[in-house]
Amino acid sequence: MSPEEFRRHAHDLVDWMADYMETVEEFPVRAQTAPGEIAAKLPEAPPDAGEPMERIFADFKSDVMPGITHWQHPRFFAYFPANSSPPSVLAEMLTATLGAQCMLWQTSPAATEMETRVLDWLRQMTGLPEGLTGVIQDSASGAILCALLTAREKVTNWDTNERGLGQQPVLTVYTSNQTHSATEKNVKIIGLGRENLRLIDVDDNFALRPDVLEERILADKAAGCVPTCVVASIGATGVGAVDPLRAIGEICERHGIFLHVDAAWAGTAWLLPEQRWMLDGIEYADSIVFNPHKWMLTNFDCSAHFVRDPDALVRTLSILPEFLKSREQGAVIDYRDWSVPLGRRFRALKLWMVIRSYGAEGLRKIIRKHIDLAVMLEEWIAAEPDFEIVAPRSLALINFRYHPAGIDEPETLDRLNAALLQRINDDGRIYLTQNKVRGRAAIRFSIGQTNTEQHHVREGWDVVTEIARSLDTEL
Ligand code: PLP
Repeated sequence: MSPEEFRRHAHDLVDWMADYMETVEEFPVRAQTAPGEIAAKLPEAPPDAGEPMERIFADFKSDVMPGITHWQHPRFFAYFPANSSPPSVLAEMLTATLGAQCMLWQTSPAATEMETRVLDWLRQMTGLPEGLTGVIQDSASGAILCALLTAREKVTNWDTNERGLGQQPVLTVYTSNQTHSATEKNVKIIGLGRENLRLIDVDDNFALRPDVLEERILADKAAGCVPTCVVASIGATGVGAVDPLRAIGEICERHGIFLHVDAAWAGTAWLLPEQRWMLDGIEYADSIVFNPHKWMLTNFDCSAHFVRDPDALVRTLSILPEFLKSREQGAVIDYRDWSVPLGRRFRALKLWMVIRSYGAEGLRKIIRKHIDLAVMLEEWIAAEPDFEIVAPRSLALINFRYHPAGIDEPETLDRLNAALLQRINDDGRIYLTQNKVRGRAAIRFSIGQTNTEQHHVREGWDVVTEIARSLDTEL
């Protein structure tokens, strides 16, 4: 494809992209295709001869688009958001065009220097303390992996990297029973063993109980284990629980335990000074992650990972074969040593463009609006006698349950809510996610898509009540 042909196709695609942004509300939010339906349209053998872009793009529209779930739909209320925004998309176009692989400072100094700068902008914008150094990871899971590896190496004085886990005592990790499954996955990946992950009880607000944490640490020490890391959650996935950082941090300090804070979703709310109460005690954290690729209008993937001691992270991950040596080594940052993959995309560019395009105040306005909308939704749910809120609202996340009068048997209510959720998501006007709260079925309503306005949330809630009523007539 010549640059001239590229220009023509790119203009067509950009027109389509702008149209998509304008008309995304016309699509069902969750893809309505059956398993295998898209695969059936894709030839089993690859093409031998090249095909014209017009035909490829036509197939994209007819064969691929029906299998897309529209995360950028303003009535997307499932999971947590994975927001995009026009400046972020423009940045991704530039990143893809440059195609720079930014593993070393030398392989694109602008990418490295911009990453350092915008991460410090983010630190300032979110009220995180000075002395934290940021790096962009591919995911919160990747950041937790780096944190756990650093904790493991620190506690074994970098001996595990040398001689392996077989030579170490049992290393234990602590987190609440609400924490995202990424912690358990990483405990398995780094070889600590799932049975050495302690799931600590929570209080009535689903926050980790520090008294139980310390009891468990003491018991483990007495049994010869080495407490290695605590993963605290700020905005855990299920109900958005916020763990008490100060109390946890004091325990970590007393026992010399590495503290990682997982704020993958909720960290974006720190843009708002009124939400920084969650940060009380953050000075104890060795490592903190939040995902601008969730709520901060920045395309996936972009996880902001802040560490107190970058030397410990680099010492944990550093490997220096001949071909990665460079003249500037030591005088500059080479981010290859800050995360697991060697190769790195120029991800800082989209953060730079989003932050500059909206400004901190523009971003604050959108996040504040989402939280205000959730407060409104909470009032609507509370006003419906046949529905109940099953956990305290956390920022822009609400868990509720349909509980019509006269039906109190827990299993029946579970089945009813599972059926309601399936109907809602098959209907296509909105998209929600199932949950279990205290062992019983619940439905999560998570607000946060870039373009969600009050009328979208109202329409969403009307869909829930309308479908619930239609279920009643079938009961
Ligand atoms: N932690 C929390 C609290 C999350 O909600 C999620 C995902 O939703 C993750 C971690 C994992 O995020 P990632 O997909 O960036 O690994």
